[in-house]
Amino acid sequence: MAMAIERQQRAMLGHRQNFFGRPVSFTTIAWNYSGRIWDVERPEDGEPARRHTVRCPVCQETLTYAVHSIAATRRRRVRQLIAAVVFLIATVPVFCLIMLDPGSPVVLSIAYGGGSLTFITGWLLACAAGQEKGFAGHGSAWPGYLKHRVFVPNTKDGRWV
Ligand SMILES: [Zn+2]
Repeated sequence: MAMAIERQQRAMLGHRQNFFGRPVSFTTIAWNYSGRIWDVERPEDGEPARRHTVRCPVCQETLTYAVHSIAATRRRRVRQLIAAVVFLIATVPVFCLIMLDPGSPVVLSIAYGGGSLTFITGWLLACAAGQEKGFAGHGSAWPGYLKHRVFVPNTKDGRWV
């Protein structure tokens, strides 16, 4: 999924239409978004992020996003990937704490709890890196089906991703 990250960015602010996922197939559920297309000019590389405000056509809420330049978007993606790798690698030694004292409930809870948290954090950071579009605000940097999401066109077929 290659996203079109461009200086003259065409984006879509989407408002989630269903609270619960709609079954699409036996193993897949989906959330529908409707919204408006929004033309945004990203800052030049090296300039700070610009704040852009857009009004949701569904709920009339005014949302402000910090829009990053193309180079800053790439750097944000790389930083998130590095952090994801660090957390995923850190999962192994945290789980290995079990070897210190396998009979201790404190060690077991730290190892399983800490190992699970580091793995989940690494996985979320990897997902966030894959969806990084250079728009920050209202949770848009994190994966999930939030009330509002910013979509950009896919470079292959133009679908909103
Ligand atoms: Zn809305």
